[in-house]
Formats: sequence, structure tokens, C-alpha cells
Amino acid sequence: MTAQNSGRAQNSWRARTRLVHGGTERSRFDETCEAIFQTSGYVYQSADECEAAFANDGSRYVYSRFRNPTVAMFEDRIAAYEGAARAFATASGMAAVNAALMCQLKAGDHIVAPHALFGSCLYIVKDLAPKYGIRTTLVDGTDLEQWRAALSQPTTVVFLESPSNPCLEVVDLRAIAELAHAAGARVVVDNVFATPVLQRPLQLGADVVVYSATKHIDGQGRCLGGVVLCDNAFAELLHPYLRHTGPALAPFNAWLLLKGLETLELRVAAQVASAAAVAGFLEGHPAVAKTIYPGLESHPQHALAQTQMSGGGPLVCFEIKGGKPAAFRAMNALELILISNNLGDSKSLICHPGTSTHQRLTDAERARVGIGPATVRLSVGLEDADDLIADLDQALARSVG
Ligand SMILES: *Cc1c(COP(=O)(O)O)cnc(C)c1O
Repeated sequence: MTAQNSGRAQNSWRARTRLVHGGTERSRFDETCEAIFQTSGYVYQSADECEAAFANDGSRYVYSRFRNPTVAMFEDRIAAYEGAARAFATASGMAAVNAALMCQLKAGDHIVAPHALFGSCLYIVKDLAPKYGIRTTLVDGTDLEQWRAALSQPTTVVFLESPSNPCLEVVDLRAIAELAHAAGARVVVDNVFATPVLQRPLQLGADVVVYSATKHIDGQGRCLGGVVLCDNAFAELLHPYLRHTGPALAPFNAWLLLKGLETLELRVAAQVASAAAVAGFLEGHPAVAKTIYPGLESHPQHALAQTQMSGGGPLVCFEIKGGKPAAFRAMNALELILISNNLGDSKSLICHPGTSTHQRLTDAERARVGIGPATVRLSVGLEDADDLIADLDQALARSVG
């Protein structure tokens, strides 16, 4: 006997009806459970309750495109961790970026963003936004003068990544937030590469934080997901946009992400320790032309990174001597590290951005953000760091043609 069906003539139902209605528990749940509410809709005890649910928006689950208990548990947990008033989960990181930007923009508005952005983020600000009459100015994210010049005109949104993908440029979040606010703009930070563990943009002056939860939040290569973190005022813009355009996160994926959060700090701490060891190994290696890691003193924004991140991060970028052929020989010689454009997995993943994630850029655009023909990006996983170093060592020995 279920709550919704009590009081009805359940005992007289025929077998086929019981097959459809038996044992359902759609709308009631114990707040301490972490059940997967794999349901699209919700049911009501009465038409009056349904009317009240729609009149009192937000207090009751009415449809999973708007809200779902499992998704809400994930949202509440990440908001609590990050210290944000609100969190809104989405089906992917790009859905989170798109919603966080588009919900606040209109024709005539101005976006300022660095050149060094994840490929799909660059598409939104550089190609998509102008189709709707929104102007975009791209700057060198590490050059305060360029930010200052771009923000000398009224601006609606500053969107940035720090560290950037793939060359780990570090943007001065406090300084940019100050300049942006003076220009009347909100600051939206894509915090994927820093993870929620190592950097808290909301505490550094940002207004909105977005994640591809696909990366370190899930952390185990299992599902896509995204999340936007913001205050109550921004939620007034974002919530209707999400509700009516529908990039909702699936309950099962929300449950994976909810459980992923429980081990996030432990995983990221282990990955940062291994990444630092790997970066130290690569920096002195004769087959490596250049190692880029915010935790290394040789990183151009090392001092800045130390003031806004509590670690060097779980990603390392490096350049192999001998151009693209040498980079491909090294990648193909790896025995443990896997070739993938993904990142943030428990398994270490390597990619060649120039021919994968940033393939659509022109040579000049790639050169501007530091992606050369021999640049590779390593997402450090949870393996023993000594095994990763041994694998890189034997592969680099075979990079020489
Ligand atoms: C992966 C990634 C995204 C997009 O996330 P998806 O979950 O793949 O949609 C956005 N920004 C950065 C920095 C990323 O690494």
C-alpha cells in the first residue's frame, strides 16, 4: 500500500493494474536517504494538492525538468561545500556554461573573455553570442592592461577559466573581479581545472561559478554533468532559463555525482601530489622542451597561483622535443597512461590538444594560447605516481625519431 494509493480500492485492483501501481513511492522521501528518484513526474493526493504545488512555486517537486529529489541532493551538497547560496545542476558542463551566460545576456550586451578558453566555451562567446547581437572582446588573460582596455566600455559579463585549458594560464581573479564590477559586469568563472577543492572563485570576487561535473566531481569517467553556483539574485535569472529550456541533469547521473563528491577532496589531493611529482620529473627531462605546471616556480604566474589556489592542480602541460611526430611517438609508446581528450578521471589521460580539443582553431589562434605541435596535456589520475613517471620515462625515450 503506497501513500498515494491509500484510501483507494487497491485490494480490488486486477493483476495488470498492480503491475503498474504496486509499490510505487513517487513523491515522499526521507531527507536522510540518497535514493535515485528515477522519475520524470510526481503525483498528488488530490487535485487540490496539485493546484497548491503549482501556486507555491518551488516548495514541492512537480516535474523533473524543474526539480528532482536526487538532483536537489547533489545541488545542496555542492552548494554547501563551495559556500554558495544556490546550485543548479545541468546535463553537461557546456549546458551549465551556456545557461550561466545566456540567461543574463541580451542583444547589445558586451562579453569580455580571454582567448585561452575550452573550445566549446570559445564557440559560445566568439561564434554563438554575436549571432544574437552580443559583442565579444577577447583578451590575453594574463595581461591586466588588455583587461583594463576591454573593460573601459560597459560590459555585462566577464567569462574566464583559470587555470586555462590546456596551457594552464592563471588569471588574476581578484583583480579581474574588481575591474569587471567597476564596468558593471558579472564575473562567471569556469573552475574545472582548479576543481572546487583548490580554488574558491566566489571568495575571490566572482559572482557565478560553473563546473563540468563530468571531470573531477564525478572523477571516475562515468557520466556527464554540470553545475552553476550563484547567489539568490542570480538564481532569479538562471532558474526560469533552466526550467524552460530544459538542460536538466538525469537523476541517475545526479546520484553518481552526489557520491563522487564524497571522495572529491581525497582524490584531488592525491592527484595534485602525483601531478607535482610528474611535473618535477618532466621539467628536468632531456626529451621535454617545456613543462607548464602552476605549482612549479618556472610557471609565469606561479606566485599568483599560490595566492588563489591551494595547490598546483591535477593537470600538467608539456612540450616534447621534436615536434608533432615526437609527441605522437611518445603518446603511442605509453603503456599505462591512456590517450583521451577527456580529463579528471581516476585513470591518467593524455591528449594532444592541437589535433583533438583545439583542432578547429587556426594555427595562429593555437599559437596565441601556447598550443604548439608538440604540446601535450596530462590529466593525472589515481595511479601510483612512480608508475606514471616510469611510463612517461620509457615513452619519452621512444619519442626520439
Ligand atoms: C570539459 C570542460 C567543459 C565542458 O564540460 P562537458 O561536461 O564536457 O560539457 C567546460 N569547460 C572546461 C574547462 C572543460 O574542461
